[in-house]
Amino acid sequence: MSDEKISEQYVESVYAEDVVLEKVKAGIRNRNMPEISIAPGYGRLLTLLVLASGAREVLEIGALGGYSGICLARGLAPGGRLTSLEVDAGFAGFARSNLEEAGFGDRVDYRVGPALDSLAELEREGRRFDFFFIDADKGNYPRYLDWAIRLGNPGALIVGDNILLHGRIADPEISSPSVRAIREFNERIASDPRLDSTLLPAYDGLAVARLKA
Ligand code: SAH
Ligand code: MG
Repeated sequence: MSDEKISEQYVESVYAEDVVLEKVKAGIRNRNMPEISIAPGYGRLLTLLVLASGAREVLEIGALGGYSGICLARGLAPGGRLTSLEVDAGFAGFARSNLEEAGFGDRVDYRVGPALDSLAELEREGRRFDFFFIDADKGNYPRYLDWAIRLGNPGALIVGDNILLHGRIADPEISSPSVRAIREFNERIASDPRLDSTLLPAYDGLAVARLKA
C-alpha cells in the first residue's frame, strides 16, 4: 500500500465512524451507483469551509447520492440552504431521501437536468451564491468556474473536486478532453486575478478559491 493510502487510513482511524455517511455509501454500493463520493477528509473540509465562511446560499454541481450534500448542509447556519444540480433523476431522488434522513430535507433543493441549463435558469431567477462545490462532468469544469464567478457574491468560495484525476492531470503523455479541461480549470484557479486560491494534492486533489470581495 502507498504511503498516502496508509496515511488516509490512519486519519480515518482517528475519527469515530460517521454512521450517516457510511449508510449513504452503502446505499450507493447496493444500487450499483458509481462509488465516487468525495473523500472523507475533504467532506469534513466542506463542512468546515461552509461553517467558517458563514455561507447562506450554497450551490453544488453533481449530487450523486448526497454524501457531499450532507457535508455541505452540516455547515449551514440557520436560514442557510443548499441548491444541488444533478443530471440523473434517480440519483437526485436518492440524494434527496438521504438528505431528508440526515435531517436536512427542508434546507435542500434538487434541480434535475444538465447543470449548464440549471445554471442559466438560476441566473434568470436572479440567484446568487456564497459557496460553490463543483463535482460533476469534468469536461465542463472551466464553464462551471465561469458560472461560479458570474453567480458568486463578493468573497464567495469556489471548491472543485478531482482536480488530479488519479495522476492523469500531472502526466504529460495524457491529453483527453476531460484532462485538458481540468488542466485549464486548475491553471485558471491559480492565475485568475479575481481569485485567491490553493490546489490541494491529497486524495484526488481539491481546488479551493475565494472570489475577491
Ligand atoms: N458530489 C458527489 C459526487 C458527484 S459524482 C459527492 O461527493 O457525494 C458526479 C455527479 O455528477 C454524478 O452524480 C453525475 O450524474 C453528475 N453529472 C454528470 N454530468 C452532469 C451534468 N452535465 N449536469 C449535472 N450533473 C452531472
Ligand atoms: Mg468528486
